[in-house]
Amino acid sequence: PQLANQIAAGEVVERPASVIKELVENSLDAGATRVDIEIDRGGSKLIRIRDNGAGIPKEELALALSRHATSKLKSLDDLEAIMSFGFRGEALASISSVSRLTLTSKTADQSEAWQAKAEGTEMAVQILPAAHPVGTTIDAVDLFFNTPARRRFLKSDKTEFTHIDEWLKRIALVRRDIHFTLKHNGKSVRNYRPANTETQYLQRLGQVCGKAFAETCLHINCNHNDLALTGYLQAPSSASGYAETQYFYVNGRLVKDRLVNHAVRQAFSEYADGVSPGYVLMLELDPYQVDVNVHPAKHEVRFHQSRYVHDYILQALQSAMLQSAE
Ligand code: ADP
Ligand code: MG
Repeated sequence: PQLANQIAAGEVVERPASVIKELVENSLDAGATRVDIEIDRGGSKLIRIRDNGAGIPKEELALALSRHATSKLKSLDDLEAIMSFGFRGEALASISSVSRLTLTSKTADQSEAWQAKAEGTEMAVQILPAAHPVGTTIDAVDLFFNTPARRRFLKSDKTEFTHIDEWLKRIALVRRDIHFTLKHNGKSVRNYRPANTETQYLQRLGQVCGKAFAETCLHINCNHNDLALTGYLQAPSSASGYAETQYFYVNGRLVKDRLVNHAVRQAFSEYADGVSPGYVLMLELDPYQVDVNVHPAKHEVRFHQSRYVHDYILQALQSAMLQSAE
């Protein structure tokens, strides 16, 4: 089973940023409102994720580390309309097969916290009492220590940090309700406070996309029929180009989709031709109207009514830009 885990790890765990993605998504699934990320040496030495979610009951600690142990798939319907991030039940097993992993957790109805340790190929999981508030902390130390070929594929600490930072930006833009912090080599580098009001969100937008973007962007809020498009768009007049600031989410998931890109570019071309549009946009629609699992790694989606979605995006953006130009 350990070999199977390591093979699965090749798919789930490519680099520190992918470990962090899996662990933070678990924290969010567990209802955390605050997630603290700590890394050393670009995450290759230490990745520590601490959350204030529901916690893992003592009797499920060892199980959580075993493959296909998911508490999240209840029926086939769930698979169809999956809104929760995790559904495969192999992230923790995969990560523990290629690192020294410690899981510390406490649920609200337990009087004490418990800790489970797993280390690479040693399968025996020990459960010991520990000190921890309600929630979970996962330490993944020495990533790929037992798979040297993969360890050699890691880039410089700085490059790995950049991947982590970029992933955190993506999630921070859409999970405005969550307080995220990031520490690198003992130093606080990001602090995204909860942004439940518009003013707070513009502040977060400034932290993530730069002050200039946050100060000049247009607000989109288009909601009719069964689709809603909200977010921020570079104002046509601020023609400096924002190729780095292109975030489009469908039901909370970042997508990089041809149809979406086409609609956005077409909307922009009339106002600022040749300029890279900058945007942070969220499209919400009936989950049954979209397949999100077409290609998870490539962030592709498939809309059942693609023409309709395309034109909706196009018109929403066009009318926002038209209004601002008046
Ligand atoms: P999946 O997320 O696909 O269910 P994982 O391997 O990522 O599979 O996690 C296995 C299980 O461990 C989860 O289903 C969940 O029950 C539990 N778990 C993992 N991380 C956390 C966390 N931070 N808080 C609470 N439970 C967690
Ligand atoms: Mg998961």
